[in-house]
Amino acid sequence: MPVEVKNVVKKYGNQLALDNVSFNIDNGEVLGFLGPNGAGKTTMMRIITGIIPADSGKVLVNGVDVMEDSLRVRERIGYFPENNPLYTDMYVREYLRFVARLYDSKITRNRVGQLIEMTGLTGEQHKKIGALSKGYRQRVGLAQALVNDPDVLILDEPTGGLDPNQIVEIRSLIASAGKEKTVMLSTHIMQEVEAICDRIIIINKGVIVADDTRENITGLTGLKKQSVAVEFDSIVAQEKLLEIQGAERVTKIADKHWIIESSSDDDIRASVFDFAVANKIAVLSLQKEEKKLESIFQELTR
Ligand code: ADP
Repeated sequence: MPVEVKNVVKKYGNQLALDNVSFNIDNGEVLGFLGPNGAGKTTMMRIITGIIPADSGKVLVNGVDVMEDSLRVRERIGYFPENNPLYTDMYVREYLRFVARLYDSKITRNRVGQLIEMTGLTGEQHKKIGALSKGYRQRVGLAQALVNDPDVLILDEPTGGLDPNQIVEIRSLIASAGKEKTVMLSTHIMQEVEAICDRIIIINKGVIVADDTRENITGLTGLKKQSVAVEFDSIVAQEKLLEIQGAERVTKIADKHWIIESSSDDDIRASVFDFAVANKIAVLSLQKEEKKLESIFQELTR
């Protein structure tokens, strides 16, 4: 097991930041660590990477106890810290070589060249980090986290402060790095975990409130995967609407206006149309509602 967290407690003075937190991350898994600001995400990641100690409990990375041998653990971990602190006066290539030498003098120029190419920094490699756009700085942060070719990547808000295009680029870099590595990614953005994570942990006020696959978390609160709002031109009985292929729950909004929910992967809108045609009813409007992970998050962390 790449990461095992057992009964971790952490206080800052009187402030309880982590309250008996336990979870594992499986080999090759991309875990989304989701929670509102102040939930304890950064604290947990700093403990896993051996930067700060827990007050009690245990963290094992590849079976090695972080508190007993943090150097050995750090050799196998790549860490993208919150706010991505970098030496802005250094040039991109110079900085990555510097980080490489901190790990191991044997990490070659070749490796640094590979990383520059992999993270799309070829055109920027001779610029000062301070002169880069935020999106490119984030790439430098990812490249430094990958220098030692780690088994486990810990990424603390890697898309923080980026514009939507940059977010898409960084996500796809993470997704491709995640193919070979175990990844833990913290965020307070639901769409982020939907886009790249296999599994989700939701943490609130230092306590894990959900730990499951996205599908199961959606099931937790009884909300279905997809829902559509439909307006017909005439009154239809509720029982009749349940004949719609895939419909599992129908909720009346107004006389001719319904919410139809389904757990199926097939787009329910096509079935609504088929139903309307078969019953000679006109569809006046049909709108897909956003997936409900966001409302689950709000429900669990309120
Ligand atoms: P997140 O990363 O989810 O935003 P943090 O781990 O940064 O949460 O913080 C968890 C809690 O611990 C918050 O209430 C925060 O104010 C508190 N905290 C974090 N770091 C410190 C610190 N160095 N000193 C005192 N309190 C802290």
